[in-house]
Amino acid sequence: MDLIVENENGLYVPEADVYLDPWRKVKKAFISHIHADHCRYGNLQYICPRPSLPILKKRMGPVSVHGLDYGEKTTVRGIEFSFHPAGHIPGSAQIRVAGQGRVWVYSGDYKTRSDGLSQPFEPVKCDTFITECTFGLPVYKWPKQAEVYRSILEWWNENKQNGRAVVLQAYSLGKAQRLIHGLREGPGPIFCHSAVQQMNTAVRKAGFDLPKTRPLTKKLGKEDLKGALIIISPTAFTGHWTKVLKTYETASASGWMLIREAKRRRSVDRGFVVSDHADWEGLIEAVKATGAERIICTHGYQQIFSRWLSENGWRAEELTTEYGESAGD
Ligand SMILES: [Zn+2]
Ligand SMILES: [Zn+2]
Repeated sequence: MDLIVENENGLYVPEADVYLDPWRKVKKAFISHIHADHCRYGNLQYICPRPSLPILKKRMGPVSVHGLDYGEKTTVRGIEFSFHPAGHIPGSAQIRVAGQGRVWVYSGDYKTRSDGLSQPFEPVKCDTFITECTFGLPVYKWPKQAEVYRSILEWWNENKQNGRAVVLQAYSLGKAQRLIHGLREGPGPIFCHSAVQQMNTAVRKAGFDLPKTRPLTKKLGKEDLKGALIIISPTAFTGHWTKVLKTYETASASGWMLIREAKRRRSVDRGFVVSDHADWEGLIEAVKATGAERIICTHGYQQIFSRWLSENGWRAEELTTEYGESAGD
């Protein structure tokens, strides 16, 4: 029997009667990371990586939650569970499930290249690997992080010299903190929208070294924000801010920015390719590093990626899950 199966509630481990990142309410849920599509409301008990604890508590309020260190094992009905760094966002993990001579790893979301803030991805040996494939197309090849950050800083500098603020749209958990950390030597102050500020506080509490950021409050006017970098989620950048700022430039930091069409759709002046997921090469590298013979592809371009794997000697399958592309790109 398979160690992990899918049912109407999510990814299920029948022998232990627990779920991994369930999409419906269950009794016991192991959580890979605190993006909304992976960590949902209403479970009776949550188990998450210890560095995710302050973030989970901030997002979910008072729930029953237990934290496990990376690599620490816990056994449920004879099945062993442990978390291993996924490099996706601060505190994120892959989940290793082992029992009766079988080892499965569910990747959650991951990226293989270090972002300088999140715990770097660690490959885990297994015989079956359930991998996400958000960017599972050969066209997705990420530029070097240092180069992208250099062009963001140049853009910020130019606008500052013209007395303008720049608005960088990024998800409130993960992408925002990674950018704050990477752009800390920038030419001006960093202001963050309240949703981002809340996550900054939680991420600092989890032990991450995040420079000081200022809250973007409604009291602020155009003069206060001159030369600043404003980090805000795409949905929070409302008419209020366009009126206050008057002249400014906007950008989006996302893997989708590799495709010109995506930039147009988000109607931003600039698109910077910064992704919290593995690119095509990263997915292949991760699959190889697990040593797994059987690969279950989900969450993205599973058809294309699983076909490529099948053609190249793996036993690959597709699995449709209910994880979205909306949180963390
Ligand atoms: Zn996801
Ligand atoms: Zn995610």
